[in-house]
This record gives sequence, structure tokens and C-alpha cells, in this order.
Amino acid sequence: MTFLTEPAAGTAAQCRRGTVTARELVKRALDRIAAQDGALHAFISTQPEAALYRAEYLDKLPLAARESMPLFGIPVAVKDNIVTAGVATTCASKILENFVPPYDATVVEALVAAGAVIVGKTNLDEFAMGSSTENSYFGATRNPNNPDHIPGGSSGGSAAAVAAGMVPLALGSDTGGSIRQPCCHCGCVGLKPTYGRVSRYGLVAFASSLDQIGPIASDVRDIGLLLSVLSVPDKRDSTCAGKQFTDSDDLYAGAVNGLAVGVPKEYFAQGLSPEVRGPIESLLARLAQAGCKTVPVSLPNLGYGIATYYIVCTAEASSNLARYDGVKYGYRSANPKSLIDMYRTTRREGFGAEVKRRIMLGTYVLSSGYYDAYYLKAARVRTLIARDFDNAFTQCDAVVSPVAPAPAFRIGEKCNDPLQMYLTDIYTVSANLAGIPGISVPCGKADGIPVGVQFMAPKWREDTLLKLGFATQELTKSKQLG
Ligand code: GLN
Repeated sequence: MTFLTEPAAGTAAQCRRGTVTARELVKRALDRIAAQDGALHAFISTQPEAALYRAEYLDKLPLAARESMPLFGIPVAVKDNIVTAGVATTCASKILENFVPPYDATVVEALVAAGAVIVGKTNLDEFAMGSSTENSYFGATRNPNNPDHIPGGSSGGSAAAVAAGMVPLALGSDTGGSIRQPCCHCGCVGLKPTYGRVSRYGLVAFASSLDQIGPIASDVRDIGLLLSVLSVPDKRDSTCAGKQFTDSDDLYAGAVNGLAVGVPKEYFAQGLSPEVRGPIESLLARLAQAGCKTVPVSLPNLGYGIATYYIVCTAEASSNLARYDGVKYGYRSANPKSLIDMYRTTRREGFGAEVKRRIMLGTYVLSSGYYDAYYLKAARVRTLIARDFDNAFTQCDAVVSPVAPAPAFRIGEKCNDPLQMYLTDIYTVSANLAGIPGISVPCGKADGIPVGVQFMAPKWREDTLLKLGFATQELTKSKQLG
């Protein structure tokens, strides 16, 4: 048994009983990272000494103390835009290359309380801006299924680490698809929770009204488990609703019978590659055999999703990233001529091209004279998109959709064409704009590269997503192995 590719819930139970030690689990994860990460570059940093030290501490805990720790001894990777006390948190940016936060994010505290062991910080697109993990100051991550291809992004490091069996669980963040899309391309499961489900305290802000931290795993049941750990109530984030998710085995007891799945006609129109459409259509046929009803629905404002998202997220990013000025923390340019020159050169040298592009776009859409035409308009269309989902959910329990229009493309293929890169987010951004949860689950392969399916549900109905996700996992298992 490797333990790293098996469901973490069972491994944690064995570790609590002492069948395997936390040290052994952590050692295996570190060995696997050492063997594979040279080629994949899923990690920006690893903390082997701290991880082993903590594992040894856990191994000394009495049985009674272990009972309340659902992730006891499990090695976990954390996206490097989530702060960790005493451990560099770079956001894959030169501007934060040497930034060591003095505190832990709420989700990190929650992982620790649950008995998990953080083994490393994973690679991402700089400040989570991108769809391929190529925009990292530290270099791109590669897809474990085929290293010539992107792993997806921006949580590409976390998805690759799980898909390559380096860790059983990882955390990502999703502003417009950054958990779901890399999981789809790498062949693991990822969930973007309802906005407000998981505290954002300690998540470096990209677009605050869209950002959510969420779980990444190989098995759908681990997503429920990890979500229940991550969703602790938190007064330090005023948008955290305090609705902790309760995981339960009942969710996975074949309960899709009678669920209605909405199939939006706009999502399966032109532009979708046959390699993605095929596996999703055959999954829908299997779900129907398992007792799901499929109902046609319409989300008429889908076509405005990308434009709306890229106005809202750049506006918020331009404001959030104003704090990197060379004064408070992070990189400061050497020998500036004046204070203004220091600000300018720090930001010019510290930020990469995509981040600068977004700051400029965001500043433009918020500027007086353009605010009404762009930002205000986008805010209104955002409401229309949310209403489309509300209407669809009067007819169905969840909506099915692709995650990405095509399987993972080759490294370098879209680097010089930002618009093409933005268009790959078409199926994921709507859930963030509407604040609803979405799950991405593998459902097939094209030329050895995984293809995923997405389900989206009304706010707070992650339970429905886990049911459908688990059914998908079971119905497509034999097919993927074969
Ligand atoms: N690809 C999207 C973007 O570049 C989403 C990124 C994210 O979810 N963090 O904005």
C-alpha cells in the first residue's frame, strides 16, 4: 500500500489506530516528492524537517487525543497563496519571494487541528492569475499525465501533486475556476465551495468577491471530509457565513436516484471539443440509467460570463494589489531616486506581465468616466447570471457542464495570446460570479489526458455535488482504468 493514492479518510483511521505511523506517511510523501518534483515542479517549497517533527509529535499523542482528528497523520500540500506562519508564502511572485507571514490562515489552523501535516507549498500562476500555471515567477508546473502539457491553473501545483500521488490531499483557491480546471486537466477531484462557506482569512486576496479556498483529492469522499474540516466558522472573515459542512457516509450511498440534472443548451453548443463532449454525454447516459433525470435548461447570459468576470476580477485585483508598494512587505527595488520612483520600480520589477496587465485593466474599468460603462455594467450582468442559475434551479437539483472547452493544451501554446487563455475559463467563471458551488470530477480520457465534468448546485448544496460526484466516480471508474 502506498497510502498516498488511497482515500485519506481510511488512511487517517489506520494512522489513528497505529497501523501506520504519521512519520511513515509523511516520509512516503516526502520521498515521492523528491523523486518526482524535479520533473513536474508542483511545489515551490517543501518543509521536510518541520513536517517530520510534527509527524513525530502526532505519533506520541494518546489514542483519546487522536479521535477528534479526522485527518490524523495525512500529508497535505497548500497552495502558495495561503499564508503559513514562519513559512514563505510567495504567490509565485517575485514581489513576495521572501515574504514570511507571521500567522496562519484559518484553513491552515483547521488542517493542523484536524491532525494533518503540511509538507509543502504548491506552485500557481502569479497571484492566481492564469489558467495554466505557466505564469509563475518560479517556472511552470507540468501535467503528470503528460509533461509536455499544462496541468491547468491557477492551482496547477496542488492538482499535479495530488494526481501524481505525492500527497493525498491539497488546498487550492478558485476565483474563476482555479480549483476545478486544473483538477479536470490532471485527473483529480476539486470543489469550489459556496462563497462564504470557507474563511478567506489568510488567503492572499486576488478578487475578494469571487475567491474561495477549496479541497483537492483523488477520491470524492475525501472532498467531503476535507470540506468539513476547512469550513470552520470564522469571525475574522466577515464574509464567512459560519455554515460548517457536515460530511456523512449517507451522501455516498448511491443516492442519485431521483435527482434532476439540468443540461444547459448554451454549454453544449459550438466551441466544445468532441473529446470533452463525448465522455460527458456517455456519463449522462449512465447517470440516467442510475435513476437521474436529465432536464434541458437555459442559462441565456452565459455568453457574457468571460467579459463580466474579467471586468470584476481585474477591478478587484487592481485594488487588492495596491498594497505591494515596497514599504510594508515583500520586494523593494534597490537605489530608488525618490519615493515615487521606489513605488514604480518596485512594482515594475516585482510583478510579472499578466499581473501588470490585470492591474492596468482593473484601474481602467474603475476610472471615472469608464466606471459606469464597464464596472457598473458588469456588476449588473453578474446579477443576471446569478438569476439564470436561480431560474435553472427551479427545474433541477444541479446543472452539468464541461470544465474546460478542450483537454489540457501544450505548454507554451497560449502564452502569447491572453485572450485565448481567458476564453478557456468560459465554463467555470459563472459559478464564482453567482457565488454557487461547483465540483470537477474526472469522467474519461483523451489521448491519455484526463477529461472532467462539472456539476454546479444552489448555494450551500455541496451535498448534491458530492452525491453526483461520487456517482460519476463510480460509473466511470472501470472506463478510466481501461
Ligand atoms: N483563470 C482565471 C483567471 O485567470 C481564474 C483564476 C482563478 O480562479 N484564480 O482569472
